[in-house]
Amino acid sequence: MEQIAGPDAVFEEIAGGKQFTEGPVWLPGEGRLVFSDIPANTMYAWSEAEGVSVFRAPSHNTNGNTVDRDGRLISCEHGSRRVTRTEADGARTVLAETYAGKRLNSPNDAVVKGDGSLWFTDPPYGISPEQKEQEGHYVYRLDLGTTEPVPVVTDFAMPNGLCFSPDEALLYVADSSDERHHVRRFRVTAANTLEDDSVFAAIEPHLPDGMRVDAGGRLFCTAGDGVQVFRPDGELVGKFLTPQTAANCCFGGADGTELFITATASVWRVRLRQAALSSS
Ligand code: MG
Repeated sequence: MEQIAGPDAVFEEIAGGKQFTEGPVWLPGEGRLVFSDIPANTMYAWSEAEGVSVFRAPSHNTNGNTVDRDGRLISCEHGSRRVTRTEADGARTVLAETYAGKRLNSPNDAVVKGDGSLWFTDPPYGISPEQKEQEGHYVYRLDLGTTEPVPVVTDFAMPNGLCFSPDEALLYVADSSDERHHVRRFRVTAANTLEDDSVFAAIEPHLPDGMRVDAGGRLFCTAGDGVQVFRPDGELVGKFLTPQTAANCCFGGADGTELFITATASVWRVRLRQAALSSS
């Protein structure tokens, strides 16, 4: 890991005592991290200067978070089964909550492409079997200015974390079922459809969940033992080990050199050797 984390990298617990942390995202305009505690129905903010504070409660059991091209917060709300955007004045806009007239399962994680399209996964982790209205667990694309998401992949068992390569030519999506526990990789066409489906990496122990790609195209994928880092050719570079199961991660910090990991009760920070955030 020396080439990624540096020889003197230390893990710093920046938040602890939580129930199940998820959805870390760096808000560049505010210079702080936001993350979710799903069962606590709360979102927290953290900054170097102010530490941890409540960002939103209730949070509708928000899970994954990301930002759009304008730095606005995008949240996957388990409780309300929708994807929302937080505006500059704090108001929330519902971006997606149904497909084909039926409620979504429980949007899990999302990413925004450079053209403004929003891509998100919809497994049923946040609902009971009786509450389910959709026939499957899809990966959706929501085009800018539209309200009806389009399924782009329909054969996942449990689609979960997702992210694009720096040039957005590739999309990585975790399949978190016990049987599959792998990451699939697709080529993104000019029409924003997906092709060349392949299994990029099998993840163990436990399951793949949230993930990010750094500026060098390396995949940082969460697993039962921490964050596992893969080269674009699929070779495992190394791992950032955490004491509890890691569910998501993101890059951030003022200079983009910090990795934040949500790992069950805690959130960890480790400084990387190079800026990991893509400039695009
Ligand atoms: Mg997830």
